[in-house]
Amino acid sequence: MLNKNILKIDKVNAFSSASAYVREYRQQHPERDVISLGIGDVSKPVVKPVIEAMHKAVDDLSDMSTFSGYGNYYGIAELRKAILDNEYIRYGFTTEEIYVSDGTKSDCTNLLELFDVNSRILLRNPTYPIYRNAAFALSREVYYTELDENFRMIVPDEHYDIIFICSPCNPVGTAMDYTELTGWVNYALKENACIIFDNVYKAFVSSPDVPESIYEIPGARKCAIELRSFSKTASFTGLRCSYFVLPKEIDSVLFKERTINRFNGASYVAQKGAVAVFLPESQELIKENIRLYKENISYLRTSFEELGFEVTGGIDSPYIWVKNREDISSFDYFRKILNCINVIIVPGAIFGSKGEGYFRVSGLGTIENSRRAMERFRKYYEEKD
Ligand code: PLP
Repeated sequence: MLNKNILKIDKVNAFSSASAYVREYRQQHPERDVISLGIGDVSKPVVKPVIEAMHKAVDDLSDMSTFSGYGNYYGIAELRKAILDNEYIRYGFTTEEIYVSDGTKSDCTNLLELFDVNSRILLRNPTYPIYRNAAFALSREVYYTELDENFRMIVPDEHYDIIFICSPCNPVGTAMDYTELTGWVNYALKENACIIFDNVYKAFVSSPDVPESIYEIPGARKCAIELRSFSKTASFTGLRCSYFVLPKEIDSVLFKERTINRFNGASYVAQKGAVAVFLPESQELIKENIRLYKENISYLRTSFEELGFEVTGGIDSPYIWVKNREDISSFDYFRKILNCINVIIVPGAIFGSKGEGYFRVSGLGTIENSRRAMERFRKYYEEKD
């Protein structure tokens, strides 16, 4: 018997259905210059010291004295140590608590297997759709928090076992501050729940009241697993390498056992590249890329506000969350904007029912394209208003 729960995933309000519409539109109108403000992919290449490290890693594989093969289920020792030394030693972790993998998309799905099948999973609505879809496919029950007017998750009175927190958040573009996150850590401690803290956009945080890591909150190591990725910071979206901290207070046996039986480790070449991400010369180049993305999203935020849109986010993340200016569904608005001004935005409904009436804009593209797209928005609304 097949797993029909996979079909619970909403195919209509999905990235794939928006992408299919764009693909068809481009085929029908090859002469039109379509600009995407929707992309979740990066627009800067991998930095040179990382490329050089990967060239060297390819050479390692050509000789058995330097070859690396099976056995590094949780990541090569050098990378686990680099992650620890650069990001987690300050919270008292050890390399045994660092797990390297092939992407946070896989990690947030895989980690569900650490928990009982009857676990009640709590999400934001709108949410990064993978949490919801992974839970459906693995036959787990999903619930949603109440939200305040700024799309902040309100701590519930009822019991839940797993809480997915994405901060900085895709799609709403905001990040949790110390007070908000402390509320969630205290809830998890009280309820004996676990927070899966998706922190892949950590590099975009600049507000002083936003913690860099959930482990800055007292008690978090007893109740939180933190996930990070090289994808958006170091342009590893095609290379694939991520990592997470699973504190020994939560588990030091089960997930290792699960991993040995399911996964033979991330690519050696990608991991050697990831080690080089931590070199000072790489960090300097990466910081400059992040600065440009932040400048881009800040420009987009201001431009949409100037046009009278209500905008959330864009300060500590590469995304803004924008309210449609027309009283139509988010998919209708997305189709209208593509047809009228040839600009791609992401319909909010993709992220859940509460995303209806909104759209997501990304600052991960280039500033040149953002300027051209906003010029078109300006003209469109000047003619309309
Ligand atoms: N988590 C969030 C919130 C994301 O937005 C994304 C990608 O867009 C991912 C995880 C996926 O990261 P990775 O490329 O490491 O699989």
